[in-house]
Amino acid sequence: MDKLFIKELDVHKKKVMIRTDYNVPLDEEGKITDDTRIRATLPTIDFLLDEKAKVIIASHLGRPDGKVNPKYSLKPVARRLQRFLDEKVRVIMADDCIGPKVKKQIEEMNYGDVLVLENLRFHSGEEKNDPAFAGELASLCDVFIQDAFGNCHRKHASMVGIDSFIPSAAGFLLKKEIDYFEKSVNQPMRPVVALLGGAKVSDKIKIIENLSKKMDKILIGGAMAFTFLKAQGFGIGKSLVEDSMLDVVKDLMDISRKNGTKLYLPVDFVVAEKFDGRAETKVVPYQEIPERWIALDIGPATTKLFYEALQDAKTIVWNGPMGAFEIDAFSRGTYAMIDAVTSSHASTIVGGGDTDMAFHKAGKTHEVSFISTGGGAFLKLLEGSELPGVASLSSKKKA
Ligand code: AMP
Repeated sequence: MDKLFIKELDVHKKKVMIRTDYNVPLDEEGKITDDTRIRATLPTIDFLLDEKAKVIIASHLGRPDGKVNPKYSLKPVARRLQRFLDEKVRVIMADDCIGPKVKKQIEEMNYGDVLVLENLRFHSGEEKNDPAFAGELASLCDVFIQDAFGNCHRKHASMVGIDSFIPSAAGFLLKKEIDYFEKSVNQPMRPVVALLGGAKVSDKIKIIENLSKKMDKILIGGAMAFTFLKAQGFGIGKSLVEDSMLDVVKDLMDISRKNGTKLYLPVDFVVAEKFDGRAETKVVPYQEIPERWIALDIGPATTKLFYEALQDAKTIVWNGPMGAFEIDAFSRGTYAMIDAVTSSHASTIVGGGDTDMAFHKAGKTHEVSFISTGGGAFLKLLEGSELPGVASLSSKKKA
């Protein structure tokens, strides 16, 4: 990365703001159901505590649309964070994220304390990237550290605006995400294989286009596969398809061929009479999807084909489930691929909310080399796009 890293900035006894992505899932009672995103930021927080900094944490949570809404308060997050830190570290909660009261709280806190600011999105200036709001945030600290990888595709005040006021650098989580991505996609150990699934081709055209320049093989599962099959003239029954994408898909197949990337499509499917876990199901070859049935998972022959295609991989990049895995009857293909990548010796990077969820459900998150904490941001990287939240950080050469 050509951007400054936290270790390259003077943070000792400084007021340091960390932008984290604490947009954690909450249940109906407001309890945190998954604290992975909080735990992922601990290396940066611990580093700053060792440097005796005043640690100021800024994050968003949910979509309060620029208004104060107690449902989206970061108070439960501050309480959970306290549990992860040494008991001598004080975690204090602020009532707001800007303003004189917060400034006073920062002046009065001790070095080695942590202050969690209230939800940034309680102010409309955050999502509008209002320079005045970004300036207010910057006025609270000496140095800014970006660690909200999952939000780096958004041009919000705390993601891109604040960096123009003060020196900024990547935190440990952001650096790990970018470094892992670089080594998996841009400078991979070969052969490198992409496993792509999910529902919509339209969401993933740019990804397939970009990866067809970089991967040795691309395996396509999920509902995306039906647009590819229909483009080649096969009947796909009532399976999900994007008719407006048929020509685009033909072009994608040409591009892959020209680039020498091998494209693998499913050779059989689990089909059901309707999109229902209790409906009658059967396995059919791809040429024989019945007219009124809907294909909802890859079949056993495809699992075998994909498994074999992954055998020589030294690097695997995975985004998107192989079928409607949320329903048990159509989850086998996705879980079989989880087994395939976790038993492989390849370095594997997994990204995207649904794929991440499937690994959690399978209890195999610890058996894969790296699961990205960002959904949208990971997809943007796969497209070959620059992340605004990274681009705006201070560059090494400028410093
Ligand atoms: P995406 O957000 O594009 O990654 O899509 C993820 C969604 O695709 C999941 O909710 C899956 O249930 C869905 N999906 C994957 N394969 C199929 C399929 N064959 N038919 C219907 N939905 C599918």
